[in-house]
Amino acid sequence: EWKALYEETFGKDFFQHQSDTKFWEKIYTVSDEDIWNLRMTMKNKFINFVRRDFREKWLKNQGDPSRIMSIVDKINPNALIIGFARRFATYKRAHLLFSDLDRLSAIVNNPQFPVQFIFSGKAHPADGAGQGLIKRIMEISRMPQFLGKIIFLENYDMIVAKRLVSGVDIWLNTPTRPLEASGTSGEKAEMNGVLNFSVLDGWWYEGYKFCKQAGWALTEKRTFTDQSQQDKLDAATIYSMLENEIVPLYFAKNSKGYSPEWIQYIKNSIAKIAPHFTMKRMIDDYIERFYDKEAKRSKKLVAHDYAVAKEIVEWKEKVAAAWDGVSVVSINETIDHNSPKTGEAYSTEIKLDTNGLGTSLAIEQVVYKVEDGIEKMVGTEPFKVVGHDGNIVTYELKNKLREAGVFRYAFRIYPTNALLPHRQDFAYVRWI
Ligand SMILES: *Cc1c(COP(=O)(O)O)cnc(C)c1O
Repeated sequence: EWKALYEETFGKDFFQHQSDTKFWEKIYTVSDEDIWNLRMTMKNKFINFVRRDFREKWLKNQGDPSRIMSIVDKINPNALIIGFARRFATYKRAHLLFSDLDRLSAIVNNPQFPVQFIFSGKAHPADGAGQGLIKRIMEISRMPQFLGKIIFLENYDMIVAKRLVSGVDIWLNTPTRPLEASGTSGEKAEMNGVLNFSVLDGWWYEGYKFCKQAGWALTEKRTFTDQSQQDKLDAATIYSMLENEIVPLYFAKNSKGYSPEWIQYIKNSIAKIAPHFTMKRMIDDYIERFYDKEAKRSKKLVAHDYAVAKEIVEWKEKVAAAWDGVSVVSINETIDHNSPKTGEAYSTEIKLDTNGLGTSLAIEQVVYKVEDGIEKMVGTEPFKVVGHDGNIVTYELKNKLREAGVFRYAFRIYPTNALLPHRQDFAYVRWI
C-alpha cells in the first residue's frame, strides 16, 4: 500500500532514485486524510492478522477460551498501539517498560486515551536470560490489569514482523547504549509511516538528527555507570514521555478522527529521515567508497601482466629482508623537556642506518595525552628526509608546541611506498 502511494506521489522514476530526498519531499502534497486512512488500513490489517492467526495458536497453548476471546476483542484500532519486536537479546532491554507496573497500568488503562503494547520476539535457544525475559512478559500480559493491553505474539518471524512494522503506531526500541549496531526494524517502520521512539543508539542516533519533529528519543548520554540505575532512569523517562508528549499528541484528534500534528510527524519522518535509510543509499555508499576504488586499484594491479603487483611484492620482500638490520645512528632534539613553553618552536633530527632501504623508510612523531588515566592519541607529525649519505638517511621534524598541557610522545619508523593503498597493507612498525 505504501509502495503504491510512493509510486503515485513521487513518480515512476522514484524507485531508481530512492536515496534522493527531493522525491520524498512530495509526501507533503498528500492530504492528511489520505495518510491517516492508509495508516488505519495497515493497522486493521495487522489487527485482523492477530485475530485470525493468533486466536488459533493461543487457544492451543493457553487453554482458557473465554480469556483468549476477551484478549482478541480488546485489540482496539482506536488505541495508540506501540510495537516492540526483536530478538530477545538482553541488551535490547525488553523488560524496561515493566519497571513500574502501577505507572504502566495507569497508562494502558486510561479510558479516554487507550494505549496498547504488542510484544514479539524470540530468544536464542542457549540464551537463558533472554528466555526468562519472554516468560516474564507473558506473565505480565496475563495479569488482570494488563489483559489485552500488553500482548505477546509468539513465533516472531518475517510474516509477523511485516504486519507489526507496518501496522502499529509507534516502534519502540530501548537497547543498552552503545550496544545497538543498527536496529533495522525501526528503519522498516519508518518507511511505513510508523513513528520511532528509541534510545539514541544504532540507526536512530543518525536518523533522529535529520528531524526532531518526526519521532522521540532517549538521550544517548549515560547518566549512571551502574546499569540498574540507568535502567530505572530510562524507564521513568519512557513513562513520562508517553504521558506528557506522545499520548497527548496522538489523541489531539480533529473532527475527522485523527491528530493533524501526528500526521505532520509521519510526513516529516518520511520526507526527512526515510530517504537516508534505503538499501539504495547504502549500496551507493559502498560503490562510491569501496567498490569503485577497489575496481580501479584492481585494474592498475593486473595491467601489463601484473607489473605493479610484481613491483609491490618485490619491494615488500626487500624491506622484510632488511628490516631487522635497520638501526638508529643518532637522535638530536631541541625540545626543552624541563620547561617547555606553548608556542615555542622545536626541531628533531634522527639519523638512520637504513641497511640499504634508503628512502623506503619514513619516521613520524606520535603525540598522546593522558586524561583520567586513559591514553588519548593527539596526532602524528611526519619527518622530512633532509640528507642522504650512503646507507645513512637524515630525517628532520620542525614543529611548534601548539597546545598547553602535558603530552607524551614517541617516534616510529615504518616502510613507505606510494604504490601501497594504505599503511596497513604492509604493517611493519618500529618504535624508537
Ligand atoms: C528486521 C528484523 C530483524 C532485525 O531487527 P533489529 O531491529 O535490527 O533487531 C529480526 N527479525 C525479523 C523477523 C525482522 O524482520
